[in-house]
Amino acid sequence: MELRGFKNRNATPGYIYFEGEKESQNSWERFKRFSARAVKGELFVGLWIVLREMIKFNIHTVQYPLQKLQMFPRYRAIHKLLRLFESGHERCIGCGLCEKICIANCIKIDTKVDENSRKLVTEYSINFGRCIFCGYCAEVCPELAIVHGGDYEHASEQRAHFGLREDMLTPIDEFKAKKQKEFPGFGALSKDADKFVKKTPLAY
Ligand code: SF4
Ligand code: SF4
Repeated sequence: MELRGFKNRNATPGYIYFEGEKESQNSWERFKRFSARAVKGELFVGLWIVLREMIKFNIHTVQYPLQKLQMFPRYRAIHKLLRLFESGHERCIGCGLCEKICIANCIKIDTKVDENSRKLVTEYSINFGRCIFCGYCAEVCPELAIVHGGDYEHASEQRAHFGLREDMLTPIDEFKAKKQKEFPGFGALSKDADKFVKKTPLAY
């Protein structure tokens, strides 16, 4: 529909129509338009602003990758698998909830029963090529084992880019150096979470 057609609609009274600038038909009109804009000083004002900022060396952009912005705690970046603070053991108990809830179907877990009849997580991988970083896995994990870290650089040459358990688990030397922090971000417990824990009313 042309602009005229729109004008004929029963629009609200007081509606302001903007016709826009008339299209230049030939070179002379284009030259006149250019001259009018230049003489008005718009061009030189723009040039002056650029020159002024260049002289000031006032750099507003982040010089990535030399500089990196701090991610907010609730930012959902690459996953991490945490260890228990008390023992240093992996928190993941292999319950499989994260694997089941994952809507991109990109978490794969393998478990076995060890010699002490305890469940052992033998494989844990996330295909980051498919992960949509929805955060459901971190939210559903009952052990706060899987969380979203702050590492957002996960470009890969392969579409199927797997994060393995060894990549995501806190390295033991980092853990011993007390570098593992309780994750405050997505899926973490709130500070007053204990207040909401209710005792079962049933007598067991
Ligand atoms: S939900 Fe948590 S504890 Fe369960 S398998 Fe996933 S990471 Fe491990
Ligand atoms: S963030 Fe979402 S898509 Fe990615 S692994 Fe977790 S549940 Fe799956």
